[in-house]
Order: sequence, then structure tokens, then C-alpha cells
Amino acid sequence: MADDRGAQAPELSVIVPVFNEYENLRPLLDRLIPALACVKSFEILFIDDGSRDATLAVLREINRADPRVRALSFSRNFGKEVAIAAGVDAARGRGAVIMDADLQHPPEAIADFVAKWRDGYQNIFGIRQRRDTDSPARAWLSHKFYRLFGALGEIELPEGAGDFRLLDRAALDALRSLRERARFSKGLYAWIGFKSIGVPFEVAERHLGVSKFSYRKLTRFAFDGIVSFTTVPLRAWTYIGTVIAAIALLSAVYFVLEALVIGVSAPGFASLIVSIMFFAGVQMISLGVLGEYLGRVFAEVKGRPLYLVAERIGEALEGNGMAKS
Ligand code: UDP
Ligand code: MG
Repeated sequence: MADDRGAQAPELSVIVPVFNEYENLRPLLDRLIPALACVKSFEILFIDDGSRDATLAVLREINRADPRVRALSFSRNFGKEVAIAAGVDAARGRGAVIMDADLQHPPEAIADFVAKWRDGYQNIFGIRQRRDTDSPARAWLSHKFYRLFGALGEIELPEGAGDFRLLDRAALDALRSLRERARFSKGLYAWIGFKSIGVPFEVAERHLGVSKFSYRKLTRFAFDGIVSFTTVPLRAWTYIGTVIAAIALLSAVYFVLEALVIGVSAPGFASLIVSIMFFAGVQMISLGVLGEYLGRVFAEVKGRPLYLVAERIGEALEGNGMAKS
């Protein structure tokens, strides 16, 4: 698959995951296509992540008028991370930009990315300058997540770097070889390495519609991020267990000495209940952590495709969730 991109391969692919974004598609293209004057040729690849609004119909219409715009439509909502993976599978360009559809990622910044690409960089990421387009609670939680990830992680995530980026063909092929199901793209981009550089951009307000990420989805996403990149939570229980056992041992010694010196005192009922509940809680948490990892191992072992494509709009669109090359 990697070799049949053919002579007509565009210089740059633009990958845009979309979920219920029909009203943003034309405003996006109105700014994106002029911004792509900085490359010789391009294709724009929308990944319709199971939208339930007019997104697919609008994409069909746009493709009829301009075949440089192609689209893949999933059989259901698989999530933005998987949609990006499908875009990376299907992109034919010698490089690809990944961006959101809601104009939070300004298309004009692509020219800056391309300049760095021409300088020889292969993994060029946009760094958002401010977070005040997010609610304060979300910005705070996100900051804390980066701190925690940094403290645990084996890889470094530059804060403010997201999906808005340009990847060279070498980096795209590397990314295509990672078929894990619980996908945390930000971590994967950092993990593949390659010659990387950050380019600042001003993040804008979402053009129309509302964010497609609920706090529930974001929490899931944060878990995926940590669990797919570090086993520290799994190993931590060895240390926590050791410390708790040591404390139990010391208190046993203390109680024996107390009984010998002062004599047996009336045992405390409250402290007994509290410690039973505390240790039961600790055990449940550790079981939960095991479950997080076990669940992901199970998902991988089943070996299901990453995504299912229901419809392809535009020429030479292939690829399925199993692609591996
Ligand atoms: N998106 C997607 N699948 C989803 C959720 C979001 O493809 O399940 C797309 C969405 O259409 C948009 C991009 O991912 O193009 C970013 O989503 P959004 O703007 O809602 O996220 P936020 O900016 O709030 O992080
Ligand atoms: Mg957005």
C-alpha cells in the first residue's frame, strides 16, 4: 500500500477528523484552500467520525465540485484519535497536516509549518499560545494532566502541543506502524521522535457548534494517555504494599510492647473500622488499576480492526483499520 501512491501523489495532505461539523466545513475550506498556496499540490482528507448531522452529505457535494477534497466515513463514532489514524493510513502526500475542523487551528499557520518542513524538520507541532478558549476548569485539569504525565512518563510531552501539526512521510509511516487501540496521539507523536520542532500559533475560538468532548470523554482520554505510556501505576502497588506492610509490622511490635509494659488497654473500635475501610479501599484501587491495564490487553488481544469504513468519497481511497505496512 505504501508504494502505490503513484506519480500523482500530492505534496501535502491535510487530515481533518470531523464529528457533526457540517456548518464548519465550507468556512474551513474557504480559508484552508488559499492557505495551501504555499505548496505545489495538496489533497484534503476528511474523516467523518460517524457524524449524525449533514456532514457526510456536505462532504459529497464538496467532493463533486473539487476532487482534491476526499473523505472517508466511519460506520460509527470511533473517536478523534482513531479518525486521525485513519487519515494517516489514507494520506498520499509526501507530508501531512493534521488539524481540527472548527477553525481553532488557523490554516494560515500551515505556511509556517511548511517553512520548517523545507528546512528539514519531520515532526513540526503547533504550540497553542493561550488556553483561555477552554473553560478555566478544563485548562486547569489539562495543566495538571501534563504535570502528572511528565512526572510518570517515559516520554516528554511539550505542554500546549496538540494534534495541529505537520508530519513528514517518514513520520507518517512510523505512525502507521503503531496499531494500538487505546490511542493517545499526542504521546505517539512524541514517541516516534524524528527531527521535531514547535511552532507557536494563536488558538482561536471554535467557529460554530460546541466542543465534541465531554468531561467523560476527556477523563477516558487522560486514562488512555497514562496507561498506554507508563506502567508506573501498576508497579506503584509493590511499593505502597511494602510501606503499608511495614507500618502494620511496626504497629504490631508497638502493641506487643504496650501490652507487656502497660498491660492490655481497651481496644479502639473506631480505629479498627477506619483502618479496615482504608485498606479495603486501597485494595479496590489497586484492583481498579489492574483492570485498566487488563482491559486494554483484552482489547488488543481481540485484534479487531481499529475502525470500519462505511463509505469512501473520492478516488483511490483505500485502507481499513487493519492496514499494517
Ligand atoms: N472529533 C472527532 N471525533 C470525536 C470528537 C471530535 O472527529 O469523537 C473532531 C471534531 O469534529 C473536531 C476535532 O475532532 O474537528 C476537535 O474536536 P473539538 O473541537 O470538539 O475538541 P476541542 O477543541 O474542544 O478539544
Ligand atoms: Mg475545537
